[in-house]
Amino acid sequence: MVFVIAVDGPAGSGKSSVSKAAAAALGFGYLDTGAGYRAFTYHAMQLPEATLDELIESFDYEITLDPGEQLVMLGGEDITDVIRQSEVANLVSTYAREPRVRALQLEDARSRVESSELPGVVVEGRDITTVVFEDAPLRVLLTATEEVRLMRRGLEQTESSENLKARDKSDSQVVDFFTPSQGVVLVDTTELNFDESVQALTDLYREVTK
Ligand code: C5P
Repeated sequence: MVFVIAVDGPAGSGKSSVSKAAAAALGFGYLDTGAGYRAFTYHAMQLPEATLDELIESFDYEITLDPGEQLVMLGGEDITDVIRQSEVANLVSTYAREPRVRALQLEDARSRVESSELPGVVVEGRDITTVVFEDAPLRVLLTATEEVRLMRRGLEQTESSENLKARDKSDSQVVDFFTPSQGVVLVDTTELNFDESVQALTDLYREVTK
């Protein structure tokens, strides 16, 4: 059995960087499920004439689970960096709302974790604690106030504040990621620095497995 730590949270909560560092500290794999949605969006942008069925059928996607070096591939092409562009971020919610795309991503995440042969995987993404790994032994919702989230994103310089707010609003029509569902531990990182946030996650793991 692969131990799954499911991590959910809005953009800028630190969920990616914190999950990655916690995975490295525990000797676990790391799966960024947002990358799958971004890769699908990028795939759709390359094939503007294709129907959704055709896009799903031809989606040849790979992602590594190494927290030290995440590599995202589409049809053998390295798309790790290109999927971070704002053109992709602007469109991703549109595809993330499609139930067939969500079903595809859910299957993909589950099978990657199951076949990983790792002691554990920190899996991060919007519906990971509530849907994809709702039975995981440890499920965490990482939050922070909007002000802090915007500041962190500003530091990363990946996305404008307007874009981030719009994406959160659009995503929240799919899943409510500000209120933890039952059994999900809320970790508010507003007052925590990066190392403290990582520590909070690894401490929770140690508590659960004590
Ligand atoms: O985490 P990241 O910001 O890279 O995710 C990109 C987008 O993918 C999100 O804005 C959301 O629309 C979608 N997503 C999702 N469910 C997930 C992961 C990501 O809907 N599990």
